[in-house]
Amino acid sequence: MILCVAGDIHGALDRMFADILAFESALSVRFDWVLHVGDFGVWPDPSRIDGATRRHEGAGDFPTWAAERREAPRPTVFIKGNHEDFVWLDSQPSAEVLAGLFYLRNGQVRELRSGDDMLRVGGVGGCYGPSDFERQSASLQGYAKRHYTRDEIGALAAHGRLDILLSHDAPAGVPFERHRRGPGYVSEAAGLDDLLARTQPRICFFGHHHTRLEAAVAGVPCRGLNKAPHPGSLLAVEMRAGQRDWQILGEWPPPAGTGLKSATPRKPCGDPRRSLAKPEANAHDDLDARGGGLAKRLVPLVCQVQALQDQARTLGVFPNDRDLLTCPHCGLAEDVLAGGHLITSYAPGDPDTGLRFREPEPDEGPSICPGCGAEVGLDPPAALDDL
Ligand SMILES: [Zn+2]
Ligand SMILES: [Zn+2]
Repeated sequence: MILCVAGDIHGALDRMFADILAFESALSVRFDWVLHVGDFGVWPDPSRIDGATRRHEGAGDFPTWAAERREAPRPTVFIKGNHEDFVWLDSQPSAEVLAGLFYLRNGQVRELRSGDDMLRVGGVGGCYGPSDFERQSASLQGYAKRHYTRDEIGALAAHGRLDILLSHDAPAGVPFERHRRGPGYVSEAAGLDDLLARTQPRICFFGHHHTRLEAAVAGVPCRGLNKAPHPGSLLAVEMRAGQRDWQILGEWPPPAGTGLKSATPRKPCGDPRRSLAKPEANAHDDLDARGGGLAKRLVPLVCQVQALQDQARTLGVFPNDRDLLTCPHCGLAEDVLAGGHLITSYAPGDPDTGLRFREPEPDEGPSICPGCGAEVGLDPPAALDDL
């Protein structure tokens, strides 16, 4: 069975499925299932989005998908993150919340089938919250449903051995080289480590931390997915029932060359690590052909946009792809002049200081103020919950 595992998308469904179809074309495979690690962005009613979603991405594509009853181009299983409409999700009569889109509730198992192949996937979505962990799952109301509970862990462990565990948070013990809570941060998401020990899945995939990483907990390989659309946000995995072996066929978007910063042209459009899989003779139906065609047309356009943004940055022009930064300590603030040039100054209308904030990589922590060295753009107490 060939699977595509996807990191947090926060509502960017259109982009994710376009990327998945482009990834398929590049690997010459067809994904039997897509697995998503939460923060899918299930917000059918845009007026109900939470504060962090309002500050960051907004409601995303789900309202349109729900209103038009769209169908997922590939069968997709997702767990919840900590930014979804939990009340709506819990009220759905069927796991199939839209055609081809299946919600895997905390503590439950879904059997993925493709021909004679069958894989057992368990899910624990949401993030760790010490204040809610020991409470009964059924007693959590509203926003508290963003946390998983010990009884959900127990319910999943009772299902016995799994092939794959999907969790939103990183199992306790996963170390992060770089993290918003500081370098060397180690996940404290209790219960997930115990779950790995008890269910011994062949692999665990998680999201939430918006970081691509590999670790092992309780002898189980764990893979952290980056936030879409950054490198390492999609992984292709080949796994067969009854065999302990599995392999990663590639990731998408392709990893950029080492040390490339945003001012250097990125390399998003080359070949991914080539597939070790045999190209499958797939009978692509009309929908696939249309989706694949769209992806083929989109990918070069995305490359062109990225190249233009990179060119703009080298010319000092702000490509408008992020928020402007202001240092809360010394007041140094970015501004964009009428001609599009990015400057910094200590007061509106003042001349350009010539100082520039260094843009962090997508999975890095905050920017550093070039005036005083303070961290900018991070609110530590809320930072992890914002993920
Ligand atoms: Zn999250
Ligand atoms: Zn997230």
